[in-house]
Amino acid sequence: MKRVFNQHYLILTFSTLLAFLIGFSTEAQAQKKKKTKTKDGVTSTMDKGSIEAAITEAYNKYKDLKEGKNADYIPELAKVPSEQFAIVVVTADGQVYSKGDIDALYSIQSISKVITLAKNIEDSGAKAIQDKIGVDPTGQKFNSAVLVEERKGMEINPLVNAGAIASTSMIKGNNYEEKWKTIMQIHNDFAGRQLAVNDPVYKSEAATNQHNQALASLMNSFERMYFDPAQSVDIYTKQCAINVNTKDLAMMAATLANGGTNPVTKKKVVSPQTVAHTLPVMATCGLYDDSGIWFYNVGLPAKSGVGGGIMAVVPGQYGIAAFSPRLDEAGNSVRAQKAITDIVNKLNLNPYLVQPKP
Ligand code: GLN
Repeated sequence: MKRVFNQHYLILTFSTLLAFLIGFSTEAQAQKKKKTKTKDGVTSTMDKGSIEAAITEAYNKYKDLKEGKNADYIPELAKVPSEQFAIVVVTADGQVYSKGDIDALYSIQSISKVITLAKNIEDSGAKAIQDKIGVDPTGQKFNSAVLVEERKGMEINPLVNAGAIASTSMIKGNNYEEKWKTIMQIHNDFAGRQLAVNDPVYKSEAATNQHNQALASLMNSFERMYFDPAQSVDIYTKQCAINVNTKDLAMMAATLANGGTNPVTKKKVVSPQTVAHTLPVMATCGLYDDSGIWFYNVGLPAKSGVGGGIMAVVPGQYGIAAFSPRLDEAGNSVRAQKAITDIVNKLNLNPYLVQPKP
């Protein structure tokens, strides 16, 4: 009797242990899943190690690449040390991963066009941008006047120079100072810190921007400028000279990835609806005449600047930024494009790459 009891007891103990182990492992799995999907819809499908590994791998692969050259049509940009290279990823819940020259400051250049566009959409509505500037890719170089002439300043977009200067002119404010203050503030809000203008770059471009002045005059001749053309070009030039580091760019991208709320300061910078109109313009026009090639290969909205920065947005998940001053023919940073592309592929972030359901 005693032996039977002992046997029963043993079986019972064993099955309890088994049930516990099974229970524990499914609980552990559930915990793991919970970590990758938070209830507010912000998904962070990657663990820390994978993001760090992807950044390091891209950094090491391209750190010695010397292809391309600094922009020199703005004399001050030619002086920026070409070797500098930085990569930063910021998650939509504010975690920062970085590698390289992350403290290097450089002028934001054309990436500012996205921030100004977002502010205009927020304040004047998506339709106003569509009607007053246009949201169609030009397929031309970023500072081309060809399509402006051909289309009489219509149906261009706010990410090429002519459209961007018009976009700056659209910013609300009664005078130069008010408009500039709003532009500086929106950049600060996106970055989550107080930024400053790179004065030598501003002065250098202001002294050599006759082509942009011509674009503004041409736009004005078609009644497609919404403030004094000369002052608008000056505000635009200053806006392009705002100094950022690569974390600032990634934070701006992460703010867009997070529906317009800065993931660290938690400030609601623009609405989710504004972001939903901003990202498609980046997707179709973000890398100038190479926008199609970029989107074809990477599948993500992005924006480049001739300072060497590029930011890309993975909606709901990440802001990715990279910086390297050497540019290709289209005016896009060679190493920044390559690094971001590799990270997107490695972490499987192309939203169009979907595995069929079993
Ligand atoms: N400030 C620069 C210009 O107007 C911006 C161009 C760019 O970054 N592609 O030429």
